[in-house]
Amino acid sequence: MTEHYDLIVVGAGPGGSSTAYYSSRAGLKTLLIDRQGFPRDKTCGDGLMPHAASEVALMGLGDWLNEPHHGKFTGFSMYTRTAFLRQGVPPTLHGPHGYVIRREETDAKLLERAISAGAEFRAKVRATDLLRVPTGEVTGIRAAQDGETVRFDAPLVVVADGVGGFAGEGMKAHQNAVARRQYFRDVDGPNKEDLHIFITEDINSHGAGYGWVFYFGDGRANVGAGVSTRALARTGRNLKAFFDRFLEEPELAGWLRRAEPEGPPRSWSLKMGMWGARRHAQGVLAVGDAGSMIHPISGEGVGYAMESGRLAATWAHQAHARRDFSASTLSGYERQLRRQRAREHLSGQAMVSLVPSLGMMEPLFKACEKDAEARRTLMESFTGDAPVYSLLRHPRTLATALRDGVGTALRTRVGGS
Ligand SMILES: Cc1cc2nc3c(=O)[nH]c(=O)nc-3n(C[C@H](O)[C@H](O)[C@H](O)COP(=O)(O)OP(=O)(O)OC[C@H]3O[C@@H](n4cnc5c(N)ncnc54)[C@H](O)[C@@H]3O)c2cc1C
Repeated sequence: MTEHYDLIVVGAGPGGSSTAYYSSRAGLKTLLIDRQGFPRDKTCGDGLMPHAASEVALMGLGDWLNEPHHGKFTGFSMYTRTAFLRQGVPPTLHGPHGYVIRREETDAKLLERAISAGAEFRAKVRATDLLRVPTGEVTGIRAAQDGETVRFDAPLVVVADGVGGFAGEGMKAHQNAVARRQYFRDVDGPNKEDLHIFITEDINSHGAGYGWVFYFGDGRANVGAGVSTRALARTGRNLKAFFDRFLEEPELAGWLRRAEPEGPPRSWSLKMGMWGARRHAQGVLAVGDAGSMIHPISGEGVGYAMESGRLAATWAHQAHARRDFSASTLSGYERQLRRQRAREHLSGQAMVSLVPSLGMMEPLFKACEKDAEARRTLMESFTGDAPVYSLLRHPRTLATALRDGVGTALRTRVGGS
């Protein structure tokens, strides 16, 4: 028997649960499905940036964020080959904090909120096809459940399947980075209230990426490394090789001396920079990783998945109010999302694509170390709080970086010839 809904949401990660929460609250009969059972893990750094924490709080989970076993960070410490940059977290609704919480727990909590708002959730149901009538209108999805083929009807489908790519038809974005993380107990770093970010020479001489140590509140840490697919292609190395090398960086090796791994390392891919994805079509909206919403420099995607889910629910409601599920009506979602995030994402994507390697930016890191205002802007463009071109507000520091960069390049050429 076919069941009818106002909205079907495919995937119950942060993007899907946020969509289902807001659409259910707006009165839409919403079906949320996931191919996995919950709670389930999602390979991640587990960092909730301040704006992501605000999205979590908007879903009624502000108090939960402060549970003592959760990590709570107040700053960023960035280590590059030549510089050390530290920046506090800007003020937010919760004070100047971000959080580090295992995704297994976060995603289960967000799903619980979607269900309590009225969404119908079905686990272990894998969407296989988007259904359209011959004139092109979406009518629902086909899915696999317990070895059977089932069908659910709705005039609108939100694709929130991460890097799954279920909807096909050009909605699947390219994957432009890969990352790997492992949990450790007793990591011995200097300041457990910071997110520690390592722009290492190994990761950044042929592309872009970074290693990280993010602390929980219970003595454990998430240690990982993310690398652009360009760096993999140029070096012929795989992600495991970069990750293993990161663990051997002299500073980190010291922090890990007494640390005990908890479980094996795990890898996953990332779709970044609002690039290469179609986020709307007749009867379809894509949110989160499915819409390439990860920030291209920080690799952060939970907050953007939740934000895009909230906006998608608004447009689902609007489409129902107008009884119009055309691409033209749903393009309002794309416009709103671009107004909100395109400057930061697209400028970051342009920088990562145009600069041959992040290692070339070492003179800029060094120059920003000495200029507090430029340092703040640099860190904000890393965290996605400012577009990369905001650095143009600091011409003297940029000039210093350029002079030092050109000087180093000339010395290298003279020395090499
Ligand atoms: C190693 C690593 C570290 C990261 N670190 C951070 C970090 O510290 N902070 C941060 O904010 N972001 C981080 N990210 C990015 C972040 O993990 C993603 O942006 C985020 O998970 C996106 O949420 P989502 O809801 O779009 O997709 P997902 O969380 O991937 O959820 C998609 C869901 O869809 C389901 N699904 C897939 N296909 C189907 C189907 N056909 N039918 C039904 N269900 C389906 C899956 O089972 C899954 O539950 C990291 C990513 C990686 C790989």
